[in-house]
Amino acid sequence: MQDFPLTITTIMRYGAGVFGDASVSTWTGDGTRRRTYGEVGERAARLAGALRGLGVDGDQRVATFMWNNTEHLEAYLAVPSMGAVLHTLNLRLFPDQLVYIANHAEDRVVITDGSLIPLLAPVLARLETVRHVVVVGEGDTAPLEGAGKELHDYEELLAAAPAAFEWPEIDERSAAAMCYTSGTTGNPKGVVYSHRSAYLHSMSTCTGNAMGLSASDVVLPVVPMFHANAWGLPYAAVMAGAPLVMPDRFLQAEPLVRLIEAERPTIAGAVPTIWSDVLRHAKEHGSDLTSLRLVPCGGSAVPESLMRGFEDIGVRIVQAWGMTETSPVASVAHPPAGAADEDAWRARVSQGRVLAGLEMRIVGDGDVVLPNDGEAVGEVEIRGPWITGAYHLDEDPAKFHDGWLRTGDVGTLSPDGYLVLTDRAKDVIKSGGEWISSVELENHLMAHPDVVEAAVVGVPDDRWQERPLASVVLREGAETTAAELREFLAGRVAKWQVPERWTFITEVPKTSVGKFDKKVLRRRYADGDLEVRHAD
Ligand code: ADP
Repeated sequence: MQDFPLTITTIMRYGAGVFGDASVSTWTGDGTRRRTYGEVGERAARLAGALRGLGVDGDQRVATFMWNNTEHLEAYLAVPSMGAVLHTLNLRLFPDQLVYIANHAEDRVVITDGSLIPLLAPVLARLETVRHVVVVGEGDTAPLEGAGKELHDYEELLAAAPAAFEWPEIDERSAAAMCYTSGTTGNPKGVVYSHRSAYLHSMSTCTGNAMGLSASDVVLPVVPMFHANAWGLPYAAVMAGAPLVMPDRFLQAEPLVRLIEAERPTIAGAVPTIWSDVLRHAKEHGSDLTSLRLVPCGGSAVPESLMRGFEDIGVRIVQAWGMTETSPVASVAHPPAGAADEDAWRARVSQGRVLAGLEMRIVGDGDVVLPNDGEAVGEVEIRGPWITGAYHLDEDPAKFHDGWLRTGDVGTLSPDGYLVLTDRAKDVIKSGGEWISSVELENHLMAHPDVVEAAVVGVPDDRWQERPLASVVLREGAETTAAELREFLAGRVAKWQVPERWTFITEVPKTSVGKFDKKVLRRRYADGDLEVRHAD
């Protein structure tokens, strides 16, 4: 066979060529602006020419500081295809982390949305390696001045660049893009995706066991393009020739529902917190979300109540599991053929079966590989062509084990391959030597009709070393008590697992990518900032 490289350039050429008429629409708040894949392909060529003019002639890092929109897709295609490396900056990070990441990656250029200038400007002078800032769209650029960087307007650069670019031949193993983990412990770590890993991950996304993306779909990536490549949806959509709908900065339930009703996407990916807001809004307003044939959801455990709530309005949520280090999608929870009712639900509430091409195992104390019997609990390890083998300029040998990535997630594997996560290693609650799954308790609590959100963390206990503390957000107007919630849990988990410490809060603190920030809850508890009720 021919030794033909698997590159993002080939994805771009194919999508912009064969599916040149497919559209990319970006929501403006009250409508959409549209371009075709053909136009996006030409604009990617212009962008590559413009970046070359700014001195990007090798594997320099070109950062993006952008929402999900058409121009971000243009950068996704142009930067890797010209041989440079796309570095997506998470615009929700604390300023110091942003500075750390941009300096660690040695970003040369930053492409920013005009609407994000107020976030970029305060840190710009500290981005040591950045020479150029390219501004997309409207925005007052005055705050960017005085930081010692050259400023450019995106459209002016594109207009001045040639409509064609001589895309170089690229080794499929070379770096295409990078993304830093959210750094919930210590400094963020850089994960570098290769052309080959992005290509294979995109193909995998198009398989039926994943999302089965095709040219008949319309794809809405709500999950940010600055976080794990929006789960790979943009590249997979271009590969499949599926039109894309981009939400830009309109990520609240109301505009998202309007966007879905207007553009009728068939696939839309987002984390559970977004979907629970959307569900509440859709139920209140009788919205029609039935264009969606599949809603991939993950990033944290997907509560069964959320899936059932969507089922009630005719929409199927499919749980997926992965991490920045796994490109990110590694397993997807489709039920097996013929499974009905509770059997199907058992599969759907799991983290799913690993995708073809990857291998997964559960490892216990002393690095012993445990049986896939659905009972032995250990750390999940994974390997395969879109799993990272190292971090950028950071050895961290503790994260790797004989060529496998240690995921930091803890759970079981069933004989038929379903992964069930019980916790992240750092969130595991060990009570009197027995493990309590915070994820399981949270899922049950969130199934209570009065509970909007619930997060469970382990806190020190004199007798049992550690016990669960439940932090609960009640629906407005609800007056459910800790005793009632204990009663509710008692019918669902072993009695000794039911928390006796309860706190009612207005919102669970979230990380920059919308996950429950348990570190903050533990700290608030330690500092005595939570009003805790004891109920035995
Ligand atoms: P960070 O590790 O910085 O939070 P990632 O987005 O890479 O950023 O997070 C990956 C982690 O998210 C996984 O290791 C896992 O703990 C969690 N996660 C992802 N999907 C799921 C899921 N479906 N169920 C439970 N946890 C999930």
